[in-house]
Amino acid sequence: MPNFDHRITSKLPNVKTTIFTTMGQLAHKYQALNLSQGFPNFDPDPELFQLVTQAMRDGYNQYAPMAGVMELREMISQKIGQLYDRHYHPENEITITVGATQAIFTIITTFIRPMDEVIVFKPVYDCYEPAIEVNGGISVPVQLNNLDFKVDWDEFRSKITPRTKMVIINNPHNPSGTILSEMDMLELQHSLKGTDIIVISDEVYEHIVFDGEVHESAAKYEDLSNRTFICGSFGKTFHITGWKIGYCTGPAELMREFRKTHQFNVFCVDHAVQKALATYLREPQHYLQLNQLYQDKRNLFVSGISNSRFKAKVCQGTYFQLLDYNAISNAGDEDFAEQLVREHGIACIPISSFNTNGLDKHLVRFCFAKTDETLEKAIGILCKL
Ligand code: PMP
Ligand code: GLN
Repeated sequence: MPNFDHRITSKLPNVKTTIFTTMGQLAHKYQALNLSQGFPNFDPDPELFQLVTQAMRDGYNQYAPMAGVMELREMISQKIGQLYDRHYHPENEITITVGATQAIFTIITTFIRPMDEVIVFKPVYDCYEPAIEVNGGISVPVQLNNLDFKVDWDEFRSKITPRTKMVIINNPHNPSGTILSEMDMLELQHSLKGTDIIVISDEVYEHIVFDGEVHESAAKYEDLSNRTFICGSFGKTFHITGWKIGYCTGPAELMREFRKTHQFNVFCVDHAVQKALATYLREPQHYLQLNQLYQDKRNLFVSGISNSRFKAKVCQGTYFQLLDYNAISNAGDEDFAEQLVREHGIACIPISSFNTNGLDKHLVRFCFAKTDETLEKAIGILCKL
C-alpha cells in the first residue's frame, strides 16, 4: 500500500466534511426530525415526473448539447426578460449546469488564479471559499454583523485592492434569510464602476422572497449585469434538489471563457430533465407561487415558536429561519446543535462555521421547507426547551 501521508500536501488543509453532511448523518443516526440541510421533505409536482418520463421515452437519453438544451435556455432567457427586463442571449449567455454549485465552482476555476482576491460576505454559504482556495485564490471576508446582517458598503469598498478579481454575493442570503435592497445593489454597482472585477450573484432563492418584497436580481442593474454571472437552481425552485440542475447567465465574453472550463468539467447535464424543465417553465405560476407557499410555512414556524425561549428575527427570503438560543443555553452553537439532535430529536445547522474565525453568536438555522405536520412537530419540541 502506498503511504501518501508524507507526499500529499492538501490543497484544502482546513476543509472538513460539510456541516450539512455532518448534521444530516447525526439526524439519521438519532432518527431526529431533520431541519438541517436545506431540502423539502415533500414531493415535486407529479407533472414533472410525467414530463421527464416522456422525454426519456422520446429518446432524450444521450448527451445533451454542451451548453444545455436550447429550448430550456430560451425559456430561461424569456423568464429573466419578463421578470427583470434584461435580455440574455440563449445562444451565448446562458449555460445549464449541474446545480448552482457546479456553476459557481466552474466560474471560480475559470477566472481565479493564484493570489487573486475574492470578496465574500460572512456568514458565507459553504461552497465559495474552498473553490477559491483550491484555485490558489485568497478569500477576503466582509463580516456581517449577525444582527441585521446588513452590508457596510464603506467596509466593502475598503477591501477592494488592485488584486481584487471577484466579488460573490448571495441574495436572498443563506443562512441569514436577509435580502439585498435596491440601495444595496446600487452601492455595489457604484463601488465596482471603473474596475474589471467580475461578480457572482448567487440567486438560487430568487423565488422565495416574502411580505411583498421584490427580488433585486443583478440582472436589473445594467452596469452590474455586464460584469456578473447570475446562478440559479431548479432544485430550490421546483423541490428537486436531488436532480442537481441549475444554470448561470453572464455576458457573452465571460460565458465564452466559462464554457472552456465547463466542457471539460461536466461537458453537459441530464438531457431528459432539461427537456422536461423547458416545458414546465412555460407556466409562470410554477415558480411565481413559491413565495406564498414558503411564506405560509415561515409564518407557521415563526408564530409556532413565538412562545418558546428562542428569539427569531423573521426571515425575509430563503427557506431558512435563524433562531437565537441565548435564553436557553451558553453552549457554543455546534455543541448546542449536537445536543438538540441527541437529547431532543431535532437537527438544525449551527452557523459559526460560515463566519470568520468561527464567530459564534449562538444562532442556529432551521429549514422550514417541510410539511406542516413536520413543522408542527418541530414547534412542539422547540417550545419545550
Ligand atoms: N447557493 C446557495 C446559497 C445554496 O443555499 C445552495 C444550496 N442549494 C446552492 C448554492 C447550491 O445549489 P444547487 O443545489 O443547485 O447546487
Ligand atoms: N444549500 C443547502 C443548505 O444550505 C445545502 C446543500 C449541500 O449540502 N451542499 O442547507
